[in-house]
Amino acid sequence: MAQVLVVTGSSRGIGAATARLAAERGYAVCVNYLHNSAAAYGVVDVIDRAGGRAIAVAADISLEDEVLRLFQTVDEQLGTLTALVNNAGILEQQRRVDELDAARLNRVFAANVTGSFLCAREAVKRMSTKYGGVGGAIVNVSSVAARLGSPGEYVDYAASKGAIDSLTIGLAKEVAAEGIRVNAVRPGFIYTAIHASGGEPDRVERVKSAVPMQRGGQAVEVAQAILWLLSAEASYTTGSFIDIAGGK
Ligand code: NAP
Repeated sequence: MAQVLVVTGSSRGIGAATARLAAERGYAVCVNYLHNSAAAYGVVDVIDRAGGRAIAVAADISLEDEVLRLFQTVDEQLGTLTALVNNAGILEQQRRVDELDAARLNRVFAANVTGSFLCAREAVKRMSTKYGGVGGAIVNVSSVAARLGSPGEYVDYAASKGAIDSLTIGLAKEVAAEGIRVNAVRPGFIYTAIHASGGEPDRVERVKSAVPMQRGGQAVEVAQAILWLLSAEASYTTGSFIDIAGGK
């Protein structure tokens, strides 16, 4: 049976690397994105040209009706869902906690936490043996920020990733006997455009000397761990975390 995978936020960065690697390994992939359709269709095009199968679907995962439409589109165009990577995430300008307002907190938590919960819910409804499904796997993209706290930069973002860690632990136990494994990766400093959202595009260059391996990571290095957690090679692994952070 074909493996069908949704990767949220896969027009760019870690999500795009995950979508491409998954397609190479035989998954039919839904490339979800927010606004950047040129980048999303670029990922689909690369997969198509390599002989894989992919669709691009714009949907804001923080909005429930858009999440419902995203998964319905996958049902109709790719078939039975077997895997989800909860990857989409945002951060905002570097600020201290005493400078944060409710509007920003709500935006960060809506995208990073509510979005991951809603996508996990739709995946469980399709994959759980409790609902007649055949099982599957979920990988949540957390961050080492969950344990480092990101002081002076974005404690709100770090706290949202702490919530993703709790989601991983709790959901893994809820659905462990229903054929679904739930794990997480915690990347460190990875070269993607997310750091520009914080106002410091070259952040990885500044902080890399604090990494034991003395370098930032590449998106594909995160994708490789995600693909292992999704695969049958991780068949007895659930509620687990892989830090991909060069020892940080
Ligand atoms: P990125 O390069 O900024 O890409 C973000 C992706 O998420 C884009 O595809 C974007 O779509 C999409 N997106 C944003 N908000 C969305 C929403 N509401 N609904 C649907 N899609 C949305 O980010 P990245 O660095 O690859 O990060 C991916 C994940 O890894 C995030 O969860 C991030 O927190 C985590 N992470 C990253 C690092 C790092 O150093 N890069 C470290 C630890 C954890 P558009 O292209 O349409 O805007």
